[in-house]
Amino acid sequence: MLTFDNSYVRELEGLYAFSSAERKSAPRMSKLNYSLAEELGLGPDELDSPDWVQYFSGNAVAPGSQPIAQAYAGHQFGNFVPRLGDGRALLLGEIIDRKGHRRDIQLKGSGPTMFSRNGDGKAALGPMLREYLMGEAMHNLGIATSRALAVVATGESVYRETALPGAVLARVASSHIRIGTFEYVAAGSDFASLKRLANYTMRRHYPELEDGSYIGLLRAFSMRLAILVARWMGTGFIHGVMNTDNMALSGETIDYGPCAFMEHYDPKTVFSSIDRRGRYAYGNQPAIAQWNLARFAETLLPLLDEDTERAVELATIEVDAFAGHYENAWLSVMRQKLGLRQKEEDDASLAASFLEAMHAGEADYTLAWRALANASGNGASWRSLFAMDAGKLDAWLPRWQARLAREGRSMENIAEDIRSANPFIIPRNYLVEEALEAASKNDDMGPFDRLLDALSEPYAEKLPSYARPAPREHTERYQTFCGT
Ligand code: AMP
Ligand code: MG
Repeated sequence: MLTFDNSYVRELEGLYAFSSAERKSAPRMSKLNYSLAEELGLGPDELDSPDWVQYFSGNAVAPGSQPIAQAYAGHQFGNFVPRLGDGRALLLGEIIDRKGHRRDIQLKGSGPTMFSRNGDGKAALGPMLREYLMGEAMHNLGIATSRALAVVATGESVYRETALPGAVLARVASSHIRIGTFEYVAAGSDFASLKRLANYTMRRHYPELEDGSYIGLLRAFSMRLAILVARWMGTGFIHGVMNTDNMALSGETIDYGPCAFMEHYDPKTVFSSIDRRGRYAYGNQPAIAQWNLARFAETLLPLLDEDTERAVELATIEVDAFAGHYENAWLSVMRQKLGLRQKEEDDASLAASFLEAMHAGEADYTLAWRALANASGNGASWRSLFAMDAGKLDAWLPRWQARLAREGRSMENIAEDIRSANPFIIPRNYLVEEALEAASKNDDMGPFDRLLDALSEPYAEKLPSYARPAPREHTERYQTFCGT
């Protein structure tokens, strides 16, 4: 059994509406995350009881759960929308997991709420399974993320361009407080609520901060965001919709929509069908994170100082400092990927040159990094990854090797570090599509389960068929959709 303790409902009145799910006629469990459930305190015998299909579809309310739709605003593709909110999600409540961490359980696709606007409040099976797969992949890569607990097929159709099988996703996150939550409160100019939300967020996610240190909250979030985005960049993850309503104050990756992993290295890579101008392209993510941080900083102004000018000054210092936090976080990711434990002045340029070589050679981002583990010698097989132009690589290789020599460690030891920092397997777009198609068109979960299994140990050099890059034509045409 889960024991709920719903602090958000208790403490943040005005930031949510009690709500209920739409009844589903024939829900059936499509996928259950037993290991995550175990972390939450739910054993396998318990989970197999028919109750959970009812709870996770929204047909029944688990004891202690108080379903709400959360209110939030947000900047969508740069434009402020004062009222978004959970239009197709319900927060069931919070539970304290086996390690003592407070975690939200939320349903997505459970039916319309007061925030649905023109939407139907529903979700299709394919995109919900996609969120499941991507979240688990990120988690196994060691990147902070929300995770899927279950996907329930509703047995009903959801109408998008065509009729699709409907589903409800149950997901777990350390919270669903977003930059957009702060924007919602700040736009309402209600000082008391703003203070309450900030204090609540600090207690929940940054307990190390002193009471009332709102500048501390801005700085601590900035650092977490820098680390998160640096890790995205290190694995080639492209979130796809970095709107401020999709950025969690916890520093976790949330709201998996049209996200995807980059194949060959190109900072301009965009997969999302709605991102026509490439605002959320791979290479823009750090700058967008800073832009989002600035929106967050603006919401805090009334708390930073009574004198608005002074408040702006303080906030600006923190927003500017993000660039340095990001640079440090990125450099630390790059050093690990390059097999470096020592720090040298030139390391950032060494990493940048390798990326340039990848760009010129149109090399697969994941495999080019991974192959460094075998490239300390002559790297013959590795060079074939840089088929387009290996000139830059030829110039770079001796530079890196000279740098490795100064590490004063054995090549085996360095290669081991490289293998633990550079995944062999990521969720390749064509494999993800194949798995989702089999599940939603043919009711066949085989490819999904096998891919999920391959992604469970991304750093192990097993299952080479899952490591292969997609045919180039596939990547060029590849588009992801929000799945709303
Ligand atoms: P997203 O782009 O998925 O982060 O969603 C942006 C906003 O649109 C949020 O307020 C969602 O709750 C809302 N939304 C997305 N899809 C639907 C839907 N099918 N029905 C109602 N609201 C939706
Ligand atoms: Mg969202």
